[in-house]
Amino acid sequence: MAEEGTVDVVTVNPFPEIKNRMELDSIPSRGWIECVNCIESQDVTDGRDPDEWALEHSALYPSHQRYRIVSQVNFRVVPSGVAPSGFVGERTP
Ligand SMILES: [Zn+2]
Repeated sequence: MAEEGTVDVVTVNPFPEIKNRMELDSIPSRGWIECVNCIESQDVTDGRDPDEWALEHSALYPSHQRYRIVSQVNFRVVPSGVAPSGFVGERTP
């Protein structure tokens, strides 16, 4: 068990299993801004201002002026005989 204020990496699953869309929607996302020119990036999950980082980066590298904000959600599915109802990738028979 982790001490208070620390993350127990053993129990944190980076690819949690989901069974339906509601579970997928409940998984927290990770976000970052990246420079399209050099792929340098900055985490913005903690509420940092992405355009501020872009302005600072462009000040250092004036030719780097294009950026993208990326949001990522990792998850895992386990196939079974019947597709879970409401699953994003559900196949029709
Ligand atoms: Zn750059």
